[in-house]
Amino acid sequence: MNIEAFFKLTYGLYVITAKDGDNLSGYIANTAFQVTAEPPQIAISCHKDNYSAKVIGKSKAFAISILEKDTDAGLIGTFGYSSSAETDKFKTVDYKIGTTGSPVILSNSIAFFECEVVDKFDMGTHFLFIGKVGAGELLDDAKDPLTYAYYRDIKKGLAPKNAPTYIDKDKINAEKSKTEKEEKEDFGPNFICPICAYVYEPDKGDETQGTVPGTAFSDLPEDWVCPICAAAKSEFISEN
Ligand code: FE
Repeated sequence: MNIEAFFKLTYGLYVITAKDGDNLSGYIANTAFQVTAEPPQIAISCHKDNYSAKVIGKSKAFAISILEKDTDAGLIGTFGYSSSAETDKFKTVDYKIGTTGSPVILSNSIAFFECEVVDKFDMGTHFLFIGKVGAGELLDDAKDPLTYAYYRDIKKGLAPKNAPTYIDKDKINAEKSKTEKEEKEDFGPNFICPICAYVYEPDKGDETQGTVPGTAFSDLPEDWVCPICAAAKSEFISEN
């Protein structure tokens, strides 16, 4: 099996949110899809280890915000690579409490749905929740949605470990040809973020923090951080 075939499946990127009492939870998902039109129902897949799985299970409701193409990497880092059990993910974003009681993320969102859980399937590592859409709004009709392919190829992000589409970075590298790696050695090795698997490629630099192409990892300023999850430079691991 060529695992890169999975990359040809197309997805968007969403923030799925829920609330149980005072506990707000939210995570980044690429698996959210409409399953029926009448009634309007949407399915989401949530890892059982995610704090959100417990919150959605209890509240029996969730909201889905569709992220815009130019979504802030910090929002993806906060909601994708940390746990709601330990981090107050909502303090840095705009949100409102919706009609089902679920928080709805408004920052970087072009549309949202509010859903009530009508069914739940145990898929082994994940729960598949089926939500009946009670409300849905368009927030910005002019902007394009962020696709998972764009996020992965242009923004250099990988699926968080609990995503249903997560693929081990080692497996991808094992399949890459050696020559492809050797061609890039001029500016030193690539460095990988151990938290989110973002890869710093010296020949590309990091335009989000003003680093020009051709900057070796060792020449990055000490206060440089992972553009996806904000991990410190010192935590990065050489690909060699
Ligand atoms: Fe990172």
